[in-house]
Amino acid sequence: MTGHWALYQDTLVPRQDAKTDIEDRGYQFGDGVYEVIRVYGGKLFLAEAHAKRMERSLRELRISFPNCVERVLKGATLLIEAEWIDDGIVYLQISRGAASRVHQFPTPDPIPVFSGTASPLPRPVQLMEQGCEALLLPDIRWLRNDIKSLNLLGAVLSKQQAKEAHCHEAILERNGILTEGSSSNLFIVSKGELLTHPANNLILNGITRQEILRLASEKAIPWKEKSFTVDELLAADEAFICGTTTEIMPLIQIISINEQNKHERHKIGSGLPGGVTRTLQQAFTRLVEACAAGSGNKP
Ligand code: PMP
Repeated sequence: MTGHWALYQDTLVPRQDAKTDIEDRGYQFGDGVYEVIRVYGGKLFLAEAHAKRMERSLRELRISFPNCVERVLKGATLLIEAEWIDDGIVYLQISRGAASRVHQFPTPDPIPVFSGTASPLPRPVQLMEQGCEALLLPDIRWLRNDIKSLNLLGAVLSKQQAKEAHCHEAILERNGILTEGSSSNLFIVSKGELLTHPANNLILNGITRQEILRLASEKAIPWKEKSFTVDELLAADEAFICGTTTEIMPLIQIISINEQNKHERHKIGSGLPGGVTRTLQQAFTRLVEACAAGSGNKP
C-alpha cells in the first residue's frame, strides 16, 4: 500500500478511507485511464504534458471530466505535499465510475472516480549507469496502445515473463516490428541515427520519448520516427528504453526465445552503454536537476 494519504474526487483523504465501489467500471472492465508523473526534489516534472495526455485518453474513451488539466495538476500537488515526496511518483487514475454491469456506457453517465497516490521512488541510477537486459516477446496487447488505459494485462503478463527470465523489461514485437517495452518506449541507434516507432495506435506516445526527441534535436543527433525489425535491433550500435520511472536506460543484452523454447542471448553493440545514449542521459539529467532546483511545484 502507498502512503498515508490518497486523492479521492479532488480531495485528500486518509489512505484507509479511500474506497471504490465493487461495481466501479475501472475495477470490472479496466474502463478508465491513468498517468504516472515524476517528482524530483519535491517538484512535478513535465506534469502539464502528462495532464494533457490524460485529457486525450479520456476523450478517446468518451469519459467526460471537465477541467482535467487543472484538476490533475492540483491533485498531484496536494499529494506530494501531503506525503512530503522528494524524489518519487504520483499515480492518478480516472475511471468511468460505478454502475450496474453492462458492457456499453451506462445511462445516465456515472460520476467518474478520480483517485491517486504519491510514493517515494529514487532514480534508477545503477541500471541507468550499467544498462539492463530485455526479453523479446510477442506484443499480445490490443490495438489502441496510444490510450493510457487501465487495461494492462498484456503488459502485466509480459513484464512477469521478463522478470522470470531475470530481465528488467519485455520488449514487444508485432508482425516482425518492435513496438515498445511493456512499460517503456524503445529506441535504437543505427548508423548514427536515432530511431523509434512512430507515435501511432501501436504505442503509447511517452512523455519521456517526446522529451528525448526534443533533446536529440537540440544536440543535433539525427533522428527519425521509423519502425525497425528484430534483426535491426540486434544489429544496432545502441539501444535504450525510456519512461517516467525508467528515464533513459541502456539496453545491453536482448534475450529471445527460440523454437525449442530456449533462451538465446544477443549483445547490443559492444555490450556496453553507447555514446549517443550517454549524451541523451546527460542532457536528461540536466532537466531533472533543473526541475529539482526549481521553486514551487511548477508543472
Ligand atoms: N509505453 C508504455 C506501454 C508505458 O506503459 C510507458 C510508461 N507509462 C511508456 C511507454 C513511457 O511513457 P512515459 O514516458 O510517458 O512514462
